[in-house]
Amino acid sequence: MTNANHTLSFSDPETTKPVQRDAARLMVGTDLAAEMVAKAAERAKKLQDETGVQPCLATVLVGDDPASATYVRMKQNRSKKAGIGSLSVVLPAETSTEELVAELTKLSEDPTVHGILLQHPVPSQIDERAAFEAIAPGKDVDGVTMHAFAAMAFGEPGFRSCTPGGILRLLEAYDVPLEGAHAVVIGRSPILGKPVGMLLLASNATVTYTHSRTKDLADIVRTADIVVAAVGKANFVRGGWLKPGAVVIDAGYNEGNVGDVHFEEASQVAGLITPVPGGVGPMTISLLLEQTVDAAEAQRQTS
Ligand code: NAP
Repeated sequence: MTNANHTLSFSDPETTKPVQRDAARLMVGTDLAAEMVAKAAERAKKLQDETGVQPCLATVLVGDDPASATYVRMKQNRSKKAGIGSLSVVLPAETSTEELVAELTKLSEDPTVHGILLQHPVPSQIDERAAFEAIAPGKDVDGVTMHAFAAMAFGEPGFRSCTPGGILRLLEAYDVPLEGAHAVVIGRSPILGKPVGMLLLASNATVTYTHSRTKDLADIVRTADIVVAAVGKANFVRGGWLKPGAVVIDAGYNEGNVGDVHFEEASQVAGLITPVPGGVGPMTISLLLEQTVDAAEAQRQTS
């Protein structure tokens, strides 16, 4: 992947005179994601032509959080465009853990469903881990079960958590050397920070995890060749925290299409940087669709 550097204008903080320098190269996910979807669509069609089976992704939404409903709708629309069927399950906000587990168990046993996505976060009365673990590992196309996490940690084949898996694909597409690189991950959530660190470690990067209790975060980030921001706080990572030339992956998505990295500052220091939107985001859905087709093909072979 190549993207020409673009030139940025900004004010020198000491002289306040406008200066120009080459800005970081952008790591754009949009085109790569579109390529992945096109390939998944071809494979979905082939499977359907040869066997009559259309890959099917079941989406489970609990409650009526508007952002979650939008994410689910986006995933269903993209599935449709890729020739992947979708089954929509919407449960009331007061659903119990037992009821959700029963629904996910039913979908896990349904031979017409190949992949299952439980939209998170779920309402607070639900034990989210218990719900995730009710998803059969062979249908866990969002990579949220302990089985998927163990596979990522051991470097074994298996479904990857979609955002971390998408980030690794982006790094690979831009030929970012991982072996021996120091990667600093900011955030340790089970769906993003922890698995992305595991995948980087499996690629022989030296990984430092940081979180809300980390001391001297900026000093640690300054030692990173690769920074992954997965914090959930708009413009949290500042340009002055970065080593010049660092690769900056902004997984954050905050209100108003704003990432976790202060883009204007960071792009003056970084070597490569993902924009928000158009960086990590499109990779997540593409990997979900790709893994749904993987699941349908694998289930076909074992049925
Ligand atoms: P999360 O579950 O809220 O986790 C946030 C992490 O950030 C936690 O580990 C937390 O540390 C850490 N953190 C909070 N404040 C911090 C601070 N001051 N210094 C250092 N670390 C701090 O969030 P998430 O689900 O991982 O999501 C993170 C971001 O990624 C959000 O913006 C979300 O919207 C975005 N996201 C994007 C996609 C996509 O498709 N692009 C997918 C999923 C999520 P503790 O563990 O100590 O609390």
